[in-house]
Amino acid sequence: MTGITLQQIAQAGVVGSGGAGFPTHVKLAAKADTVIINAAECEPLLHKDKEVLRRFAPSVLSGLAAAMELTGATQGIIGIKEKYHDLIETLTPMLQGGTRIKALPDAYPAGDEFILVYEVLGRVIPPGGIPLHVGAVVMNVETAYNVAQSPRQAVVEKFVSVAGAVASPMTLRVPVGVSLAQCIAAAGGTTAEHPVLIVGGVMMGRIEDNPSAVVDKTTGAVIVLPADHYVVRRHRRTWSHAARIGRSACDQCSFCTELCPRYLLGHPIQPHRAMRSPGFNKVGQADVTGTLFCCECNLCSMYACPEDLDPRSVCGQNKRRLMGEGTKWPDAPFNGTRPDLLMKNRKAPTARLIRKLGLSGFNNVGPLTEELLSTRRVGIKLKQHVGAPCQATVAVGQKVARGQVVGERAMSEGKPALGAPVHASIDGAVTAITDGVIWIEQR
Ligand code: SF4
Ligand code: SF4
Repeated sequence: MTGITLQQIAQAGVVGSGGAGFPTHVKLAAKADTVIINAAECEPLLHKDKEVLRRFAPSVLSGLAAAMELTGATQGIIGIKEKYHDLIETLTPMLQGGTRIKALPDAYPAGDEFILVYEVLGRVIPPGGIPLHVGAVVMNVETAYNVAQSPRQAVVEKFVSVAGAVASPMTLRVPVGVSLAQCIAAAGGTTAEHPVLIVGGVMMGRIEDNPSAVVDKTTGAVIVLPADHYVVRRHRRTWSHAARIGRSACDQCSFCTELCPRYLLGHPIQPHRAMRSPGFNKVGQADVTGTLFCCECNLCSMYACPEDLDPRSVCGQNKRRLMGEGTKWPDAPFNGTRPDLLMKNRKAPTARLIRKLGLSGFNNVGPLTEELLSTRRVGIKLKQHVGAPCQATVAVGQKVARGQVVGERAMSEGKPALGAPVHASIDGAVTAITDGVIWIEQR
């Protein structure tokens, strides 16, 4: 028994560190039969989760055990790519009661919760659902590590992959709140003349034009690419550009649908039908309503489409419009679907994706540097999670210690709102509280 409690996890400010930021104490308050550790890490060039698992396996397994205790799960499964034989061999003798490893194919998007749950358990999460609907809770590797640390340490550190056009691609251990520029400098600096930063992965991440932007609890990676790189140009493409060329060039070949992981899972989404929406004023509701279930993995745009079009943007635009209108899928509740029999053969192999995206020239490694990056200044965002922003509990000029709460969950109807507290990640004094960020400096 780990004895770790939901209260300890909440007070430590643990949230989903794979990018989602959902408060972990809320997730683990549910009952499930299975906890899955998501170590799939399918975005090209990223190595953080594998490295954390390699260096801190006992902590990650302890976090898994705590999650199983809290949810009542009888099985715990680590989903990791089969190509990491050495790591699987290292972990196997460490596994205890009810835990096992599921080797995953080296494909994108293996880390999508819907795909992961299907690969690991053979269960299809209903469209618009969550893993809990099929009895599962999914946690990122680093989240499990943070759960294990929660009785002793709040979330004041972050592991971040720094990759692409940098001198030494690596996985850094940094205080929450350091700048992206500091991370890149720690990786030896950029090798690109006109570098562009992508936060998250090249497929699902976003361009960040401000190198002073800070790392928060959900920041998993910063990828540096030359400004004229294909991936950057694709991310910079505007909606009006995507709609204009989509309207004129889409030949309805349906490759985007044939490779869409959610379509292959049996969900009612067909991006080639959604591609009709920019071209016609009247499209059938069935053409676009399924876009509600698009996970915006970008596979259709960056991999499948032979015309270099952007069905992801078309699906994303329609999805947001439908959500804004309150539109629901007409057949809800979900009656159960059968994954396409061709699903296994229609995966996008990571190596081919890397070639297609023009990333083969970058050193695809990310060894972990265990030493904590040193900094004299951090910016702690009051919102680093799903839910309401925290309210600052410190004032300008006040001294704070590393691990001290500096922002507490907002109250809603007498109870803490959905969220997680934020903490100082260095000793220092509060120098400013602006635009939802608490700035702390060592003097
Ligand atoms: S793959 Fe491209 S060209 Fe083919 S239907 Fe989809 S968007 Fe249109
Ligand atoms: S981004 Fe494209 S491939 Fe991915 S789920 Fe949406 S429609 Fe399917």
